[in-house]
Amino acid sequence: MTHEALYAQACRVIPGGVDSPVRAFNAVGGAPIFVDAAQGAHLLLADGRRVLDCCCSWGAMILGHADPGVVEAVSRAAAKGTTFGIATPAEARLAERLVARIPFIDKVRLVNSGTEAVMTAIRLARGVTGRDLIVKCEGCYHGHSDGLLVAAGSGAMTAGDGTQPASAGIPRPIAAQTLVVPYNDPEALRAALEAHPGRVAAVILEPVAGNMGCVPPLPGYLRAAQDAAHAAGALLICDEVINAWRFRLGLYSEAAGIAPDIVTMGKVIGGGFPLAALGAKAEVMDALAPTGRVYQAGTLSGNPVAVAAAIETLDRLAADPPYPRLAALAKRVEEGINAAAEKHGVPLRVQRHETIFTPFAADALPIRNLAEAKRCDGALYARFFHGMLARGVYLEPSQFEVCFLSAAHTDADVDHLLQAAEDTLAAL
Ligand SMILES: *Cc1c(COP(=O)(O)O)cnc(C)c1O
Repeated sequence: MTHEALYAQACRVIPGGVDSPVRAFNAVGGAPIFVDAAQGAHLLLADGRRVLDCCCSWGAMILGHADPGVVEAVSRAAAKGTTFGIATPAEARLAERLVARIPFIDKVRLVNSGTEAVMTAIRLARGVTGRDLIVKCEGCYHGHSDGLLVAAGSGAMTAGDGTQPASAGIPRPIAAQTLVVPYNDPEALRAALEAHPGRVAAVILEPVAGNMGCVPPLPGYLRAAQDAAHAAGALLICDEVINAWRFRLGLYSEAAGIAPDIVTMGKVIGGGFPLAALGAKAEVMDALAPTGRVYQAGTLSGNPVAVAAAIETLDRLAADPPYPRLAALAKRVEEGINAAAEKHGVPLRVQRHETIFTPFAADALPIRNLAEAKRCDGALYARFFHGMLARGVYLEPSQFEVCFLSAAHTDADVDHLLQAAEDTLAAL
């Protein structure tokens, strides 16, 4: 069946035909693709085509699709029962693996999505500080809970006009609890904190921003943000839902020399299942129910099938860390596309941070914040995206996202990608 026909069928019973707006092609136009199956680095599309996948379920599939070890671990777990609503020994085994790699946390709680992890982190910060306000950065996405859909990146940016709040249905008094500052600007952050003395519970940011395209922190920014938060008596929440286990075994915060008070993780650590986590020192985490007064719960939290996938994924990453190879492949993509774009006079440049990258339709880098990302040419990106897809390479359907590679991606796959880029850019 064609994607157009599947899309029309889905649109009759699902708003926009998709269960998450980032899957729609609003930013690039046309019917979204539908997937039948996937194996390793490739998607098998519903129209029978096989394409190289540079989305990898928004980074979740770091071992590649249908990895035999993960499939086996999941099958074994499923055969023993798929949910009990009762604690299982494997949950603590997964928690131990997370805590062991993050020096500044003692405990984690497992939840079902990044949105839930961040929502709980915010409630926890408010609970332990007794303050209401939070400060977030423009263009950082922290899931779709009310208070965080303010100047949010990712699909919320494509969908909205970037003014606050980024969604209808959010009461103004709730949006008003969120202060917004530009990313990579410690001065603006300090000013926001000083304007509301004693009232800010937490500063939340993505250490390496991944929802306005790939925007790395400038040298010293994260340390300055941490110092500013602490000087104001606020907690620092690092949202590493993308970052965790994406650049190294553990968090980017540690590599950056900071020690956030609360961290959130998802995507990679869920092994392709609905699993995410938040973590902090024991005295903060114990403020959560049942030990503390900050309530949080979940029928399917710590789901045994998801936990099995997560443990298998983390153990495989630890046994054979793919990071230097992923960074080398991403560097080839960066250099190859940039050289071809320059040769053909196309204002498109790849911005990369270690293992992740975004082709920005811009003639000069760096892109340091949302205002700079928004100056990129959306129409040009759309033509590049469709040119690549026609040549068998699926990039993110928006330049306000990052592209991901998996351990299943090979040098031959990058050769294919770069040939597709050369041909696409020559035709533009
Ligand atoms: C994806 C993402 C989220 C939300 O996670 P979901 O599992 O989609 O709810 C939160 N924060 C960041 C930084 C993300 O990239």
